[in-house]
Amino acid sequence: MLFRDICKVLLEIEGKSGRIEITQMLAEIYNRLSPSEAEKITYLLQGKLKPEYYGIDFGIGEKFVIAALANATGYHENEIAAIYSKKGDIGETANELIGVKRQKSLYSKELTIEDVYNSMMKMASASGEGSQTTKIRSLSELFNSTTPPEAKYISRIVLNKLRLKIGDSTILDALSWAKKGDKTLREYLERAYNLSSDLGLVARVFFSDSENIGNFKINVFMPVRPALAERLNNAEEIFKKLGGCGVEYKYDGFRIQVHKRGDQVMIFSRKMENMGPIFPDIVESVKKLKHKEIIFEGEALAFNEKENRFYSFQETMHRRRKYGLEAASKSWPLHVYVFDLMYLDGKDYTMLPMQDRRKAIEKIFPFGNNLKLSEWRLARSPEDIQKVFDDAVGKRLEGIIAKNMRAPYTAGKRDFAWIKLKKSYGKAVDTVDAVIVGYYLGKGSRTKFGFGGILCAVYNEDKDVFETIAKVGSGFTEEEMAGFKEKLDTEKIIEPNANLSFNVKPDFWINMKYVAEIAFDDITVSSQHTCMEKDGRGFALRFPRFVKLREDKDIYEITTSSEVRDMFKLMKGARR
Ligand code: ATP
Repeated sequence: MLFRDICKVLLEIEGKSGRIEITQMLAEIYNRLSPSEAEKITYLLQGKLKPEYYGIDFGIGEKFVIAALANATGYHENEIAAIYSKKGDIGETANELIGVKRQKSLYSKELTIEDVYNSMMKMASASGEGSQTTKIRSLSELFNSTTPPEAKYISRIVLNKLRLKIGDSTILDALSWAKKGDKTLREYLERAYNLSSDLGLVARVFFSDSENIGNFKINVFMPVRPALAERLNNAEEIFKKLGGCGVEYKYDGFRIQVHKRGDQVMIFSRKMENMGPIFPDIVESVKKLKHKEIIFEGEALAFNEKENRFYSFQETMHRRRKYGLEAASKSWPLHVYVFDLMYLDGKDYTMLPMQDRRKAIEKIFPFGNNLKLSEWRLARSPEDIQKVFDDAVGKRLEGIIAKNMRAPYTAGKRDFAWIKLKKSYGKAVDTVDAVIVGYYLGKGSRTKFGFGGILCAVYNEDKDVFETIAKVGSGFTEEEMAGFKEKLDTEKIIEPNANLSFNVKPDFWINMKYVAEIAFDDITVSSQHTCMEKDGRGFALRFPRFVKLREDKDIYEITTSSEVRDMFKLMKGARR
């Protein structure tokens, strides 16, 4: 299929706001594609060429796109930069320039989806000396053959600024819709995605044999999307919800998923990046496990033997960066606290109840010096839960995670199979993880930083949109303020992302990329923000302040609007 035909539909989708309508339009596109084209279009809609763990990055900045546009259109780079700074959107800039080219292309052809994808792959794979020239040349060649809308979407895709209202959730709906005209296959598609973290692959497999999508299997070296915990306010509430349950310490480290086949080992972060090179000490221990194939999960954190205490995630990563891997692993060895098992020697454990998974990991761990078992106790009363919690807090840990012993591994879902209780809950202070959608200029003493605060949003899963929740102006150190401006400036956009719902405007909108942890004292009802209660009341965080960037989190892993509603109710309990 021709890429320009896809772009025509994308243009129409840009003008729509209803999720069902967008899903149906996307489904129509999918119905016209071969399995291989469906795979590629899915990646491009996600703004990538392959899942994160392949480590394939476009490696292209705005300057490259401007240089390629100059080559293809005959305009000078300065003229293009001026148009871009007026429009604030590289896609619209490319759209305009390709429409009024000053020079005719020597060679031009109608681009298929494969052509566009393969050229992008060539750009992304270019590395080392001369790679800049190769990237610009490949992009210029594409621009030579594009219509204006194709240029618009290509330039947005390579800069990961596609800005359509199409998240993973809408893509999953559209796949089911394409075959069934409804969402009945969504459950199977979602499971396949949760087991592989590869939506392009799911699309390809689905269009090759849709009847078999329910038989999708877990695979070593394909990361499983992590199970996430719900939260409750105290031990009584947890016991009311779960009854007897397993209770584990909540370690504040770096969540890793470990895959091993023979002596090959891969370690994935929550964002599905390959972390093996950063954790060589763990890779070495895992290699020695006697099992041929295994997938397990745990929390990695550095341990200070002299002071007999753990380091937090931030401290662990800071030390690894500052002192180098070898020195850091010697002075502050990493411990991995294993808390779940997904696969062992040909057997999928994800559908087995927690108690079976726990029994199995107890047979394997502890292993060696750094692969340990997470602390676990069976609780038969709220008092038992409280005891583990007090114990954890006494050891300066964040709190506990209670686990439903009958529940399977709920990949990719925030579910009551796991319930977290942190020392901050029910207190005057709690936190959310929110995506930064824009920033404000500094006033008064902050003028010199050119940065005064951020506008943040949470994710509404039902609508597949982001909703603002707080304007955050405090909690930043001077160093952070200076650094923020530089960081956020590279992501500036004139119009906000299409999947953002907002009432207030920042001084500058930015591409949604950075996740921030925000502390607050309470949640109030306010019409300022768009994170809404069902009856239309909006929520806002009271006294929000910046804690840190959550570099380990993807924007779809942030606090959801329904969690904010639950927190509002929980805090209401604490407010009485
Ligand atoms: P938080 O910011 O509270 O850590 P989160 O959004 O990062 O939450 P959740 O799924 O809500 O993640 O909370 C569970 C997290 O706690 C896991 O992602 C994992 O990294 C960490 N964790 C620490 N110890 C355990 C444990 N014993 N079992 C499961 N998860 C654990």
